[in-house]
Amino acid sequence: MKEKQTHSIKLESTCKITDEICLPDTKLPRVVIVGGGFAGLALVEKLKHKEVQVVLLDKNNFHQFQPLLYQVATSALEPDSIVFPFRKQINGYKNVFFRLAEVEEIQPDSNTILTNKGSISYDYLVLATGTTTNFFGMDSVAENSLGMKDIRDSLNIRHMMLQNLEQAAITCDDEERDALTNFVIVGGGPAGVEMAGALAEFCKYILPKDYPEYPSSIMNIYLIEAIDELLSTMSDKASSKTLKYLEDLNVKVLLNEAVSNYDGKEVTIKSGKTILAKNLIWTAGVKGQFPKGIDEKHVVKGNRLKTDSFLMVEGYKNIFAIGDIAAVITEETPKGHPQVAQTAIQQGKYLGNVLLKIIKDKGVNPFEYKDKGSLATVGKRKAVADLGKFKFAGYFAWLLWSIVHLLSISGFRNRLMVGFNWAVSYFTYEKSNRLIIRNFKPKPSVNNTKK
Ligand SMILES: Cc1cc2nc3c(=O)[nH]c(=O)nc-3n(C[C@H](O)[C@H](O)[C@H](O)COP(=O)(O)OP(=O)(O)OC[C@H]3O[C@@H](n4cnc5c(N)ncnc54)[C@H](O)[C@@H]3O)c2cc1C
Repeated sequence: MKEKQTHSIKLESTCKITDEICLPDTKLPRVVIVGGGFAGLALVEKLKHKEVQVVLLDKNNFHQFQPLLYQVATSALEPDSIVFPFRKQINGYKNVFFRLAEVEEIQPDSNTILTNKGSISYDYLVLATGTTTNFFGMDSVAENSLGMKDIRDSLNIRHMMLQNLEQAAITCDDEERDALTNFVIVGGGPAGVEMAGALAEFCKYILPKDYPEYPSSIMNIYLIEAIDELLSTMSDKASSKTLKYLEDLNVKVLLNEAVSNYDGKEVTIKSGKTILAKNLIWTAGVKGQFPKGIDEKHVVKGNRLKTDSFLMVEGYKNIFAIGDIAAVITEETPKGHPQVAQTAIQQGKYLGNVLLKIIKDKGVNPFEYKDKGSLATVGKRKAVADLGKFKFAGYFAWLLWSIVHLLSISGFRNRLMVGFNWAVSYFTYEKSNRLIIRNFKPKPSVNNTKK
């Protein structure tokens, strides 16, 4: 009888107890980074090949480029062009280890974190967990609308939209058809504006070709904003130009209006108005997300973690926060820095230098944010740009927006795919394949506690 062959490979690890996550025993100080978004990855890049053991933990095995989520949602790009696997990113970084795990709890007294896969001890812990959609306590909206915070949300929006357009061709009920072809986007920040512009272009260029049975006026796009301007963090020029661009694309922009209820078919606005719509995309707010274990008194508005100007979370000696989750509260920045990719990247790079200096017992300078300006696009060939004193709009702003975004995407192959798709679409107005490959059913998905 043949003897059974077993191949048991023993990893050199620090695991002492069975529920510990297996990691090599390097005797180097261990920096655990939770979250591989813009902030977490910038920190990894600073610490690669250095005298520290870096453990990157993320609940996904990929980094996602959130600024282009709306293009996946509207079929302009395929999902794999804007996500990038962590293991490919850290290829060749001998001191960096990725573990796919969701962190559930921090135990600062024992310098340990608990994940859904096991525990890990740390010398330095960095929270870079970003934000989640904030529905401001409106359960009906949370249950029936779709947020746009990650790649799954984008695919949900795409499937909802394509399924509803197909269903609109089937139904003989006029009211039902209206609801299926009306789109409401809530939030006039960059995500809402860019989504509205992309949907309007879908309506203008794709709808007449794919759905010849409809008049293009069948698809109504509403953009609802609670204050009196769009893109409120940008200049007045950018706000008014954006409004004009969207109105030229037939988007119905409702300013000073806020959604108060949504039952999945009818949107109720605070002024009393109602809109029939089976498509509601919520981009009106975010709130910080982080594992339990941090003392509540260090959590500030927006569910962000209050840090000092060295990005150390108030009340702790070896826990840091970077990116959207961090609120660096100083006299100059009483509300913290803007929750944008540039802040996250700059904080990740800065903290890399700080940690290396702390380990070597050297002094460090406080974090200083350098505002490199803001860009937002409103459909093809139209964008707005605020770059310090220079504020401009139109084709050159759009060209700049395209170049900046293309260069910021992780991975050469991804840049090539996005560039190719954009080039094709520039000349043909064609978008990616519009396939319905899964049945989308809206479901309550968010932790909707008031903050
Ligand atoms: C639709 C949209 C459009 C945007 N457009 C722009 C733009 O044009 N320009 C701009 O500058 N900014 C834009 N932003 C904002 C920008 O994307 C964020 O500021 C940036 O992503 C913040 O980076 P971060 O690293 O802090 O967090 P994120 O990029 O959100 O990364 C957080 C990471 O943490 C992981 N994570 C979370 N919790 C856990 C856990 N418990 N355990 C393990 N892993 C966890 C997540 O999986 C994720 O990978 C946009 C955001 C959105 C949603």
